[in-house]
Amino acid sequence: MTTPAPSPVGVSLPALRTLLVVDVQNDFCEGGALAVTGGAAVAERIADFLEDRAGEYRRVVLSRDWHEPSGTNGGHFALPPGEPDYLDSWPPHCVQGTPGADYHPAIIRALAELEERGIEVVHVVKGEGVPAYSLAEGRIERVAASADGNAPTPSDSSSLPDSPGLPDSPSLPGSLTVPDLLVGPIDVVGLAFDYCVAASAKDAARANPVGPVRVLLDLTAAVHSEADPETVAQLAAAGITVADSDDPPGDGPGGYAAPTADLLDPLEVAPGVSASSPKES
Ligand SMILES: [Zn+2]
Repeated sequence: MTTPAPSPVGVSLPALRTLLVVDVQNDFCEGGALAVTGGAAVAERIADFLEDRAGEYRRVVLSRDWHEPSGTNGGHFALPPGEPDYLDSWPPHCVQGTPGADYHPAIIRALAELEERGIEVVHVVKGEGVPAYSLAEGRIERVAASADGNAPTPSDSSSLPDSPGLPDSPSLPGSLTVPDLLVGPIDVVGLAFDYCVAASAKDAARANPVGPVRVLLDLTAAVHSEADPETVAQLAAAGITVADSDDPPGDGPGGYAAPTADLLDPLEVAPGVSASSPKES
């Protein structure tokens, strides 16, 4: 049996990571149509995290729930006289073009700073006429300037050159889909922990052939916080680490189990084999 190679010194692993910021919108914060307790505080903490730590990520992907103004959006809205059950049906929220669908003001401020610093930010919208809990179900709305001034393309979306398991797509930005971005080490934050954050993390773990997925629990808040242990257990069963935003992404509690050398040498990682599973020789 081989032992995992030690992490190379001086290699910038964090530049490979992607941060998913899920649905930090006014309607999910206090005063909104579907407020999550602690939502506004989470928005402020995420904004601070973006300002302090976004430089550690290759790319930041933000989603917004983005529902149509008429109808139930596929049964997602409970319209009067119907009552929402807060499990599968909800009060109308995050209607396209309304203030409730905007990012929380703290996020907007942080995004302005990220843009000035040239950090690549991808904006995703989801739930257009249908229920959509996972960011992966959305579509790319726009891409803010990246460090190299170019929008991501399918060929660079891996964040890992020559990663196995990725389709050979033509480099047309228009053909880029959200799952194309869900490759490599991924951290997930946002609202709400037990719905859109959990669903996005599970899809990221399923889509992601090489990188581990973490949910940063202190940067989330739940609709049904009493069920947090259950949600944490479901995420763990899906191979997702529930960590704190201060936990290092490498070794240590909440860190990635994947051998760094495997991530940096994709040829060492066979398609469909988790990078976190040391190979037997
Ligand atoms: Zn919704």
